[in-house]
Amino acid sequence: MVEAVNTSSAAGLNASDSTRFLISNLCSLLETYLEPQDIRDVYRAYLFGAQAHHGQTRLSGEPYIYHPLAVARTMAEMRLDAKSIIAAILHDVIEDTPTAKEQLASEFGEEVAELVDGVSKLTHLTFESKAEAQAENFRKMMLAIVQDIRVIIVKLADRLHNMRTLSVMRPDKRRRIARETLDIYAPIAQRLGMNGMRHELEALGFQALYPMRYRILENSVRKSRGNRKELMNKIETTICGRLEEAGIESRIYGREKNLYSIYKKMRQKKLSFAEVFDVFATRIVVSGVDTCYRVLGVIHNLYKPVPGRFKDYIAIPKINGYQSLHTVLFGPHGIPIEAQIRTDEMDRVAESGIAAHWQYKTGDNNRDKAQAHARRWLRDVLEIQKRAGNSLEFLESIKADLFPDEVYVFTPAGEIMELPHGATAIDFAYAVHSDVGNTCVAVKIDRRLAPLSSELESGQAVEVISVPSGRPNPAWLNFVVTAKARSNIRHFLKHLQREEAVTLGQRLLDKALTAHETTLEDLGKRPIKRLLKELALADMDSLLESIGMGDRMPQLVARRLASPDKAAGQRNKARPTKGGAKVPLSIKGTEGMVVSLAKCCNPIPGDNIVGIMSSGRGLVVHRESCRNVSGRKSTPDQWVDVQWSEQAADEFSAGIRVQTANQRGVLATLAAKVADLNSNIENVSFEERDGSTTTITFVLSVKDRKHLARIMRVVRAIPEVFKVMRIRG
Ligand code: MN
Repeated sequence: MVEAVNTSSAAGLNASDSTRFLISNLCSLLETYLEPQDIRDVYRAYLFGAQAHHGQTRLSGEPYIYHPLAVARTMAEMRLDAKSIIAAILHDVIEDTPTAKEQLASEFGEEVAELVDGVSKLTHLTFESKAEAQAENFRKMMLAIVQDIRVIIVKLADRLHNMRTLSVMRPDKRRRIARETLDIYAPIAQRLGMNGMRHELEALGFQALYPMRYRILENSVRKSRGNRKELMNKIETTICGRLEEAGIESRIYGREKNLYSIYKKMRQKKLSFAEVFDVFATRIVVSGVDTCYRVLGVIHNLYKPVPGRFKDYIAIPKINGYQSLHTVLFGPHGIPIEAQIRTDEMDRVAESGIAAHWQYKTGDNNRDKAQAHARRWLRDVLEIQKRAGNSLEFLESIKADLFPDEVYVFTPAGEIMELPHGATAIDFAYAVHSDVGNTCVAVKIDRRLAPLSSELESGQAVEVISVPSGRPNPAWLNFVVTAKARSNIRHFLKHLQREEAVTLGQRLLDKALTAHETTLEDLGKRPIKRLLKELALADMDSLLESIGMGDRMPQLVARRLASPDKAAGQRNKARPTKGGAKVPLSIKGTEGMVVSLAKCCNPIPGDNIVGIMSSGRGLVVHRESCRNVSGRKSTPDQWVDVQWSEQAADEFSAGIRVQTANQRGVLATLAAKVADLNSNIENVSFEERDGSTTTITFVLSVKDRKHLARIMRVVRAIPEVFKVMRIRG
């Protein structure tokens, strides 16, 4: 369907700016719809703004305050509420004067301060990229940043005035601003259904960016219009007459296409001017919805409709809330006539879109806050959708526009990255590149260091700091939200696990070989090759990995390597000699993914320990006294002699059980004592035995057995404590 507007606003270059628009003019405009008290507030805002901008001038040389006044005028012409008008007058004071947000809040209230602050935030966003996809992201980002859609309306009105006064700018700057207007601001106006705004922004942007093309098209339109004036009048009169006969009151406008729309259509569809322009368009505005359908009947009776061109946007509104009936007719001499039929209300919404929902309505005593209006509007729209019984498309898009599921952030290069809502700095790092994610160690958000788990917000600039030695942390899996980050972290950890398994496997095999008084080096390559072939393994690393993961016994592998001929049938005879096998494997507790400390008994340095190889999990270290170990006496092949390394890590978990009197404050005393001894409580649970005793189970972080013993001694000394014991698992 062809986009069209009233002739009056098509060019947008009216004389209104040649005479200065004064505060008195604004006030008389506001008197037509606001209360006297509101107008007094607006006047106060004017005095405040004029004072704040005192001494500043625009490029044109006129005092700065005329700019915000002009912005307020546009808002007033859309009949916006008093708060929006005040915000428009003050829209540059935070940005361009020393005025603080708090000052605005105390003078004009929190709402106005928030609006002005929102406009200032948008002013800080600069858009450099030329790519169309990036422009789309930038538009989404702007909408995602604002909490209150009136901020966008002020920003659009601001841009409109800047475009109207663009001629004072340097040509290069003029082109840049015009480009930005066409790429960013006009489409936002369109998305919010503000067609009046959109068409003027497009006309001004087109004229500034392509002055020659604009002039040529403008002349062509003027010529064609002259040629067809008589015919157009005739068609209008005919329609008018028929509607009067049917007893329908209506207003009829001849419409002309916006120059930029014509230009875009000619370019995109490779059409000639005549092909695009040679259409007569009319709009019929009536009072009720039912009447719209009656008008449709009347004009379809008058001129034959072109099949397949009828659209009922009343029953199924466009995604920006636009409602109207559209049809195309075969007019006299075969000239196609495009007709739009709608109610006054629909016409108003079609012109100012979302802005219509903040418009002040006289006689509306219970004036809700603006946001409540918006919510009501969304509800209305939902109603329409329900009645039409069709798709969620409209809702989806409104939601995407105003309450987006995505956040939009800047990369250091100024590109915009789209991420799902809730995405963290780690998700961002992986979105940039998986290598960046795998090696990231820190992040700066808006130039400040922030935790890697920080949730990102639209408009932030995010910079990832990565170092070659950085590696993913399994804990990241607890907060990342994107599939890319998740799968990359998992993949990396798996790879890491393989590396660690190979190292552990090597240690286990070396140890097992000492029982045969030999080493891999002494054996040479031949027996290894033969064994790999027998086991159908690709390489030595695969063999070591399977040992490290607990899938293959190191003793058996060692035996087959050391005495391959005997290995097959005479296992028992080839039992390793005792001496060599007794050199235990030393454990630091930091081996990572293939050596783990059993959760059942929480071994700590100083405990007697034993390792059990378990398939797929590698080596699990238990205390010798652990019940789970004694149950496995029958499978000694899985046992590995282990001992604590001299360089054991310095934090281990240990569980203790404390029986205390059931008395207030005992836990606090306990916690304080534990903290005094440089330990942390990692976990705590209660179990009340009877009215007088409570059993508390702690998991503490301790350095070793001595450290734990010291803690238990101190805890035992607390008068309310009856009994302290370590948990055995
Ligand atoms: Mn401004």
